[in-house]
Amino acid sequence: MRTPTGIDCPYFYGDYFRGRSVEECRLLKAANQTWTADLCKTCPVPAVARANACENLQLRAKVARPFHAAFMRRVQISAYCHKSRRDVPEPHIGCGECHPLPPPFEVKK
Ligand code: SF4
Repeated sequence: MRTPTGIDCPYFYGDYFRGRSVEECRLLKAANQTWTADLCKTCPVPAVARANACENLQLRAKVARPFHAAFMRRVQISAYCHKSRRDVPEPHIGCGECHPLPPPFEVKK
């Protein structure tokens, strides 16, 4: 569903039927975090969802105030793979279990 900032996010829910105006982030709600619409503007989740559709990837989110932007709240994510049972440091790419990563480039002399 499309967030208030106009980006598609699988975790956003909006109910506008018959005058209702219910909006929530189900990823943050599952983590007991308070969602506000401004968080979607800088949230990394829609880009991760576009780049990696692996069904074994589970995202966890929290709202934090990073050091370089102390006045702004930002969504920070971490990822876990249920298949390989390990943390995924680069959720855009995945853990490499289902979709092997290409071998590193070698420069021949
Ligand atoms: S905060 Fe992030 S995960 Fe939540 S609805 Fe907005 S874009 Fe999606």
